[in-house]
Amino acid sequence: MKNFFTRQEMDNDHQLFNNCQIESELLKERVFELYVLYMLSKKLNLSLQLDDFFDQSMDFLKESLKIEDFCLMLREDDDEELKMWQTDSANSQLLKDVSFKFGEGISGLVAQTGEPILVQDVSKDDRFLHYKGKRTDIGSFISLPLRLNDGLTIIGVLNIHKKEANTLQESDVALFMAVANNISIALGRMKAYEALMNQSIHDELTSVYTRGYFIENCHREYSRAKRHGEKFAILMLDIDYFKLFNDTYGHLHGDKGLKSVAATLQENVRLGDIVARYGGEEFIVLLPNTDKDGATVVAEKIRSETEQKEIPLNRGAGTRLTITAGVAVYPEDGATVEDIIDMADRFLYLGKNLGRNQVVGNQ
Ligand code: GH3
Ligand code: MG
Ligand code: MG
Repeated sequence: MKNFFTRQEMDNDHQLFNNCQIESELLKERVFELYVLYMLSKKLNLSLQLDDFFDQSMDFLKESLKIEDFCLMLREDDDEELKMWQTDSANSQLLKDVSFKFGEGISGLVAQTGEPILVQDVSKDDRFLHYKGKRTDIGSFISLPLRLNDGLTIIGVLNIHKKEANTLQESDVALFMAVANNISIALGRMKAYEALMNQSIHDELTSVYTRGYFIENCHREYSRAKRHGEKFAILMLDIDYFKLFNDTYGHLHGDKGLKSVAATLQENVRLGDIVARYGGEEFIVLLPNTDKDGATVVAEKIRSETEQKEIPLNRGAGTRLTITAGVAVYPEDGATVEDIIDMADRFLYLGKNLGRNQVVGNQ
C-alpha cells in the first residue's frame, strides 16, 4: 500500500508543527511580557513616595521576570556621578557606598552614552568592574539607562544581574528597556512630587521648616506630651534691630544675616527638634521632652553664638547680629499649643523691652 504522505511531506509537517509551537510559545511570552509591563506601570503609578517605590515594584519584577538581583544607581542633581540608591536587601550593605563616575565601568558608560549594554559573560569583558570588586558572583549583566521625560536627561541606571554567564540574552534587552522606561517615568514624577512637598515644608531663603509644618508638628508633640505626662518647650526668637541692619547694609546682606541666624539655630539643636521661620526675622523652635531649664540653656547658647558669629561683608569688616528669645514650656505656661506660643511671644517682647540680646523665660 502506498503511503498517504511522503516522507518529505511528513518532515515538512513536523517542521511546521514545531514552528507553530515555537511561535505560540513566543506569543505567550510576549503577552506575558506585556502583562508584566502593564502591571508594573500600574504599581508605579500608585506609588508617589520614593521610599515606597522600590518595595512596591521590585518584588513583583523579581517574581514575574525571574530577575535574581538588580540595583538602581541614581545621579544626584547635575553631578556626573552615579550613586547606589537601592539594591535588593541581600546586597544593600555590601554595595551601599559604591559609586561610578560617568564613563567609569559599564554603568558609567551607559549613563554617559544613554545606550543599554548587555554583557553575556562578564569574565570576557574587562569594562565590568564587579562593583569595585564587591560582587564576584555575577555572570551575566545588563545595564539600562533611566531617562527623564525629555528623553535626554539621564537620571541613573537600572542594572540586572544573573549568577550564570550567558543567561541574559540580546532578546531580553528590549523588555528590560521597557521596564527601565516605566521606572524612569515614575521616578521623574516622584522627584517632582518630592520637590513640591519640600517646598511647602522648607522656607526657601533659610531652608529651615515653614510655619505651617511647625504648627502641624507642635500639635503632634502636644498630643504625645499630654498622653505621656511629658513636657515640651517652645523658643520664640527675633533678630534685634534688623530693620536698621537692612537699612545700613542693604536687603541682600540682610538675607545673608537671616541665613546665618538660621544656621546657628540648626547647629545648636538636637535631631528631633524642629526649627522654623515664623515670620520675616522671627524664628521658632520646638524642643520635645524638654523643661524650662533645659530650653533656657539651648536658647542661651543660640543667643551667645549668634552674637559672636561674623556675617562677612563683601568688602571690609564683618557685621554681627543679636537675637532676643522667649522660652515657654508645656504644661506650666499654658494648656494648649496656642497658649504656649503666645507665652513664648510675650517673654520675647519682655526681653525686647528689657534691652534686647537676652533670653527670658519668666515674668
Ligand atoms: P526689634 O529689635 O524690635 O525686633 O527691631 P527690628 O528692626 O528687628 O524689628 P522690625 O519688626 O521693626 O523690623 C523687622 C525687619 O525685618 C523689617 C524687614 O524689612 C526685615 N525683614 C523681614 N523679612 C526679611 C527678609 O526676608 N529679608 C530681609 N533682608 N529682611 C527682612
Ligand atoms: Mg526684630
Ligand atoms: Mg520681628
